[in-house]
Amino acid sequence: MGLSKTIWTNPTEYLRSVKPENPVLFFAPSVIQATARRFIDGFPGLVTYAVKSNPEEVVVENLVAAGVSGFDVASPFEIRMIRRLAPDAALHYNNPVRSRAEIQMAVEAGVKSWSVDSASELAKLVELVPPQGCEISVRFKLPVSGAAYNFGAKFGATVELAADLLKTVADAGFIPSITFHPGTQCIDPHAWEAYIRSAADIARNAGVKIARLNVGGGFPNHRLEGVVPQLEETFALIDRVATEAFGADRPALVCEPGRGLCGDGFVHAAKVKAVRDGGHVFLNDGIYGALAELPLVGVIDRIEVLSPEAVKRTAPKAPRIVFGPTCDSVDRLPGDVMLAGDIAEGDYVVFLGMGAYSTVTNTRFNGFGELTMATVLSAAV
Ligand SMILES: *Cc1c(COP(=O)(O)O)cnc(C)c1O
Repeated sequence: MGLSKTIWTNPTEYLRSVKPENPVLFFAPSVIQATARRFIDGFPGLVTYAVKSNPEEVVVENLVAAGVSGFDVASPFEIRMIRRLAPDAALHYNNPVRSRAEIQMAVEAGVKSWSVDSASELAKLVELVPPQGCEISVRFKLPVSGAAYNFGAKFGATVELAADLLKTVADAGFIPSITFHPGTQCIDPHAWEAYIRSAADIARNAGVKIARLNVGGGFPNHRLEGVVPQLEETFALIDRVATEAFGADRPALVCEPGRGLCGDGFVHAAKVKAVRDGGHVFLNDGIYGALAELPLVGVIDRIEVLSPEAVKRTAPKAPRIVFGPTCDSVDRLPGDVMLAGDIAEGDYVVFLGMGAYSTVTNTRFNGFGELTMATVLSAAV
């Protein structure tokens, strides 16, 4: 992805001056830094960044500048990148399945914090990782019926298995901790409450006093006009429930937001290639590009339509079927997208809050995916 060296006032100024043919992601460092400070000031524990959500080096550099000192990494590539950009940062290797070669690489890179959710993967760590000063967090999940969001489809031990694993971790001489992930874009703070209370039960059942509780990512970014993230309220709830659930044995807290830190720092602009067949809108970007996660997490409604001269279209919004540029028929945004009724060929469709799972999931399928990045002082459109 090309990084323009010029800093623009806002996305509108860029669109008016450059009239880009390819999709653009606008990066607002001021927003990333302000969000990082909101987490660091408000969260009652250590704030780490889940690198996978947006591994652009400028994002990592701005988070470090704002004071983020720990990173959730999932692969040797991410470990090497963070070691290079933030040599003193804590690395939490919280992808619970790793090859032996990956484990050895991470030991050599100085990783001191790991997560597990199965006996076989724990056995690998016990075999290959020296336990001194090293933390292993047991990751658990709650049954879907008891949790607000299903993020446990792939990872997470049952509460019963988690207690067994925690005992093994402590017996093997590692620092015992617990972790969970309540589900991405989790707008209901009470999901954390159920998880924190279960974590305390797991520790009690295992007879193990845990050093840290990592409450995961899942913190939302601003995707829908009417659903503004309640970060401070969520932090306060986590703080209160941790004390209630653990009492005198309250562990230190850690969080590892991805989306919550990077989501609102980017704005995406796609150009309208065609309006045809009675109103279907064809964009130059879609689900194989920077809009990859819309079918997974749901379409957003913080969308503006700008004319080719970058003037906001103000006609009442109307539902549209929106396609991406590839020849694949699944390359369509989910449902109907509400767009200004007078949208026309050559316009720009501007999506706000697009920093998470966008730059990094962009593909070159069908020869598209020529995504430009431009730095802006303000993300407002
Ligand atoms: C993906 C992931 C995160 C970040 O999730 P968000 O929903 O983007 O905050 C945090 N921790 C782990 C272990 C993850 O896999």
